[in-house]
Amino acid sequence: MRCAICNEDIKGVEHNAFPVVSGVCCERCNNQVVIPFQLYQLGKNTSEALVINPDYSIKIVRPQGEKFQLKELQEEVQGYIEYYPTNNTRYKIIVNEEGLLMRLPMNKLSSNIFGIHAVGNVVIVPKKLIE
Ligand SMILES: [Zn+2]
Repeated sequence: MRCAICNEDIKGVEHNAFPVVSGVCCERCNNQVVIPFQLYQLGKNTSEALVINPDYSIKIVRPQGEKFQLKELQEEVQGYIEYYPTNNTRYKIIVNEEGLLMRLPMNKLSSNIFGIHAVGNVVIVPKKLIE
């Protein structure tokens, strides 16, 4: 059985990969992707940002102060930030402006979950944490 998230053979326990994708996933993806994503959904996520990495892991980050400083966001995308176009009224999506030049890997996870087609780290930030 292959993991529906990382596409590698599942060694050991299979987990339900919902809501990230349908199907089953491996232990690593369950811990690094599915559980953080579920927590993020449940928490209404207005006080945390979600960082989606191209290696199929997800990280939840909080601003050091009340809001994210530019430098903190630059660290998350590992370069200059660019706002990815979205109609979402609650969140801003931030990607690396020079991601293509830097030849960062395609972010298949952000593409699968949110339809965000980008390279490198993708950061989903509640608007109130950056405005
Ligand atoms: Zn996996």
